[in-house]
Amino acid sequence: MNDYVNSVSADGTTFRKAFSRVYAEEAALSYPRARKILDRLPGSTVIPIANYKNLFNRPNQSAVLQKQAPALILAVQKPPFLYPGAAVCQDFGERHFYYTSCIRNCPYDCEYCYLQGMYPSGDIVIFVNMEDVFAEITEVLTKHPLYLCISFDTDLPALDGLTGFLSDWARFAAANPSLLLEVRTKSAAVSAVSALPVLDNMIFAVTVSPEPVRERFEHRTPSLSARLKLVNTALSEGRQVRLCFDPMIKVRDFETVYGELFLTVRETVPTEKLRDVSAGTFRISADYLKHMRSHRPCEITAYPYTNTDGVYGYDTENVREMLSFARSRLMEMIPEERIFLSEELPKG
Ligand code: SF4
Repeated sequence: MNDYVNSVSADGTTFRKAFSRVYAEEAALSYPRARKILDRLPGSTVIPIANYKNLFNRPNQSAVLQKQAPALILAVQKPPFLYPGAAVCQDFGERHFYYTSCIRNCPYDCEYCYLQGMYPSGDIVIFVNMEDVFAEITEVLTKHPLYLCISFDTDLPALDGLTGFLSDWARFAAANPSLLLEVRTKSAAVSAVSALPVLDNMIFAVTVSPEPVRERFEHRTPSLSARLKLVNTALSEGRQVRLCFDPMIKVRDFETVYGELFLTVRETVPTEKLRDVSAGTFRISADYLKHMRSHRPCEITAYPYTNTDGVYGYDTENVREMLSFARSRLMEMIPEERIFLSEELPKG
């Protein structure tokens, strides 16, 4: 399709041709992380800018078009660095649930992705001053432990071939046992993950979808079998792995399509080794959906969702049916106390 699309490899290691233009805040260029990233992009044109927001937040952009060939922006993040987890996200029973965004936007292009409703741009921003984030976390850890999701607004492993951020996080997690990290991914970045130390406080949360759903809605993402290879490699190395069936999309023949997925997982993954699993139906804040409807008319955005307290999702009956189905299949693989659902169901 174009250099960008061809360059996002399944394991996230090939970016040489992806970003022909790199905008860099002048302040960012003095950080070693910026230098390392630029060294990995020989031939790119670097355009100095004063403030990434002038580019990223400018009005009347088409994030959908930009995602086909995004520019890369290197910037210095300003505080706050930690945000409380949103109500639509699962907390897995963790009391101090926060997330942080050292990268904004993702190389993949899922039609249901909330980032399209959240950000005005499809360009990818990488913040290079991670030490400032680590300093804030260190301060918080003096008061209480922290469950921190570091790959919500991007796919960190998919971009690791460019950034090397996973090893920075791993080093920091190793030195701070009261920090529990979640790294969410749809990538197949086996080599990036395998290169890291094995840590009990670093969870790799791999999202899986049925192949027909992936092909229709999750553009550029690695296949189910490639993602399961990452899962199985990480499990064999003794890592903490979470399998996420979230978001489940209400497709025709839902039980057949998702039944195949659960069967494949059951037959190919040693599920007893998983830390836990999650399942959730598609849900999104009303504001984000409104933006997506005007910028990306498609099957996902056209669906007549139900608005419950500012969050759009399928109606209660459909949600119950989808989650009950998922729970019954998951209970064949893993004890119920390790199954987390996006909504509580009556015990079954
Ligand atoms: S992988 Fe996640 S963050 Fe990336 S486009 Fe898809 S839904 Fe969005």
